[in-house]
Amino acid sequence: MYEGVVQDLIDELGRLPGVGPKGAQRIAFHLLQAEEPDVRRLAEVLIEVKARVKFCSICFNVSEADLCRICSDPRRDLTVLCVVEEYKDVVAIERTREFKGRYHVLGGAISPIDGIGPEQLRVRELMMRLSDGTVTELILATDPNLEGEATATYLTRMLKDLDLTVTRLASGLPVGGDLEYADEVTLGRALAGRRSAQ
Ligand SMILES: [Zn+2]
Repeated sequence: MYEGVVQDLIDELGRLPGVGPKGAQRIAFHLLQAEEPDVRRLAEVLIEVKARVKFCSICFNVSEADLCRICSDPRRDLTVLCVVEEYKDVVAIERTREFKGRYHVLGGAISPIDGIGPEQLRVRELMMRLSDGTVTELILATDPNLEGEATATYLTRMLKDLDLTVTRLASGLPVGGDLEYADEVTLGRALAGRRSAQ
């Protein structure tokens, strides 16, 4: 236990995903020893990113405008929707250059251990988007791990009465991992070889 503001810093860092108490201490002491301009730059970018970056009002992708670059692009196919967990998955799929439709970012995956159920994700917003019938194919591109599978299974059930083709990425992705870790070729193939989820 440290005192005052040093402990505050460790506490704040420890709340970040994947850091933990040991890592928080290590980062805190790194920052204490770092040059002031370096720390100031980090602090400024943290404030700036919160002030400037918001979520697209259609797909919840990260965006500096009300609509993200993809939703405001008239060349994107409105009939195909790719459902992903996080913004980083949009980046991964865009990198393949295989996908011309739009996205829906759920904001995570179902994980009862972490207290995340469908209500914590943007499932209601997804159902609203689908209600006007524009989308005819929905690709479930959740991560190839337990939480991703649970999410895809849940959504398949939710969507089964809609007049809509629901597909999943083809197998061949590294199981247990994140979509973002798949290389472009593998992910591109998984996308091209997608199969029916029903
Ligand atoms: Zn968008």
